[in-house]
Amino acid sequence: MRMSTYDILCCPVCKGSLTLEVEKKEILDSGEEDIIEGRLKCERCMVDYPISEGIPDLLPREKEE
Ligand SMILES: [Zn+2]
Repeated sequence: MRMSTYDILCCPVCKGSLTLEVEKKEILDSGEEDIIEGRLKCERCMVDYPISEGIPDLLPREKEE
């Protein structure tokens, strides 16, 4: 997931902004960062959306109690 993609992402539930936590990234030839593994967190919903193999999984999910 490129940083330019992150800029336009928002929480699918509350439409709020997401906080990015990067575990693994690559730098593209263009100089842009490409996030391979990490998490997108919505502070408002207290939900984490995983980024796996460069693909952000933004499906709404139930909070685990
Ligand atoms: Zn949210």
